[in-house]
Amino acid sequence: MSDFARLVELAGRLEATRGRLDKLALLAEYLRSLPPDAVGDAVTFLSGRALPVSDPRTLGVRGLPAAEGGGAGPPLTLADVAAAFAEAADARGGGARRAREERLRALAARATPREREILARIVTGELRTGAAEGLVLEAIALMAGAPLAIARRAFLLLGDLAAVAVLAARGGTAALEATTARVGVPLLPMLAELATDFDEALAAHGGSTALEYKYDGARIQLHKDGDRVAVWSRRLSDVTRSLPDVVEVARRELPAGPLILDGEVVALDAAGRPLPFQELMRRFRRVHEVEAAARELPLAIHFFDCLMADGRPLIDRPYAERWAALAAATGGRRLAERALVTSAAAAREFFARALAAGHEGVMAKDPASAYEPGGRGKRWFKVKVAETLDCVILAADRGSGRRRGWLSNYHLGVRDGGAFADVGKTFKGLTDTQFAAMTARLSALAVADDGYTVSVRPEVVVEVAYNEIQKSPTYPSGLALRFARVTRIRDDKAPGQATTLAELRRLYERQFATKGGGPPGGRSA
Ligand code: AMP
Repeated sequence: MSDFARLVELAGRLEATRGRLDKLALLAEYLRSLPPDAVGDAVTFLSGRALPVSDPRTLGVRGLPAAEGGGAGPPLTLADVAAAFAEAADARGGGARRAREERLRALAARATPREREILARIVTGELRTGAAEGLVLEAIALMAGAPLAIARRAFLLLGDLAAVAVLAARGGTAALEATTARVGVPLLPMLAELATDFDEALAAHGGSTALEYKYDGARIQLHKDGDRVAVWSRRLSDVTRSLPDVVEVARRELPAGPLILDGEVVALDAAGRPLPFQELMRRFRRVHEVEAAARELPLAIHFFDCLMADGRPLIDRPYAERWAALAAATGGRRLAERALVTSAAAAREFFARALAAGHEGVMAKDPASAYEPGGRGKRWFKVKVAETLDCVILAADRGSGRRRGWLSNYHLGVRDGGAFADVGKTFKGLTDTQFAAMTARLSALAVADDGYTVSVRPEVVVEVAYNEIQKSPTYPSGLALRFARVTRIRDDKAPGQATTLAELRRLYERQFATKGGGPPGGRSA
């Protein structure tokens, strides 16, 4: 059986197999049976694609054209199919559509009915064998006997499973391990974890941390190689065409490369003040009259990382060294404001400066840390101003350990019509004396007690600081406060003056309108 006929058979078996491990074994066994040169095509097709991810061409047809007969000529191989797709994608000019269809019709004519069905599904991008990207990656690692973590790292850097498969098949673990970033292939941006204070960041970073202003704009990754400049968004959409001003800056001010920079762009109004995030997104989505848009809504760029300089890959180098390379590449221009600090007091001073300059907070980065594409952890923290709400205490859990005897974990609610809706819990913020007083007060308001949680009449209002509002699958309100802590007991406020659920929903929306995050799947850039 030809290698393509076996792929078609494999597709059928994958569909009929339920278990993940069984699917994995089938995939790995098939890949192992192929010569290294065929592995790339096989992985591309198994991923339900006619062309590799890294191939900028498209097939430009809606489906596989119908063909007469079937199975005529020698059996189709993976190489035959790949060649047909490549030739179809190459058709240019006036008769391109017909040329594409002819080429694919010829391909279909050589296929058996079952092969034709699989080809049609590849052409429409709907193979649906249940072999998702993650599973194919695992199969590649298994095929090459390489640790999954190393295969995954190579995938992050190359962005293309087929390329990973070929590397793995040819050079095994060593080749995967030696993979570095490439100009023209965007890397997932490194992300940050939320910290509530600088002591946490300083402790995690071994006593010294690099602070940078946290600009309230949109992430960009800029690649330059000679005349070629490309810009990607946080979600790795290619936004080069929409941002001619950024491209121009790269052409004029940056060295020839190969160079990869990470940074944030902010839209400015006529007076040079940052504009809300929605305005900025208009720039990112624009594909027509981009020059006019660039004049109307100029962008400020703040670079903060360098992943490659002069063709030298830097992601595995420490932050401090990458910053030095960034400073050298940019000549010190358009860099994020930054300070190295070794004390929380110095950090708070820098934080105050960032807020005074109108920014939403600071980043705290470990000077010794490598760049982790797609990683979110304690190497990079974000520290933002806490916002506050006025919540009503709806119930309290009995404390344990040091808090035994107290009602110490407060269930917080916001107003929802005539009632109150739970939005979080906290045992933070009160002194021992306050805990004791609050326990007496809440006990007097008790309406129910299950031995652990005491429900109370909603009368006590507290000011609560939080760092983020999250969607909550557990609370009927649908929202929950992250890192909530009591900052004041608001005896001057009646429960009827507490924050409402509607207000909380607006605050939740505003987080995404103005901050660099985004609800899952909710934003394109
Ligand atoms: P968040 O989206 O709240 O998780 O914050 C992380 C985002 O802040 C990043 O993805 C960037 O878009 C943005 N950002 C702004 N300034 C910086 C900076 N100096 N370093 C890293 N990220 C920054």
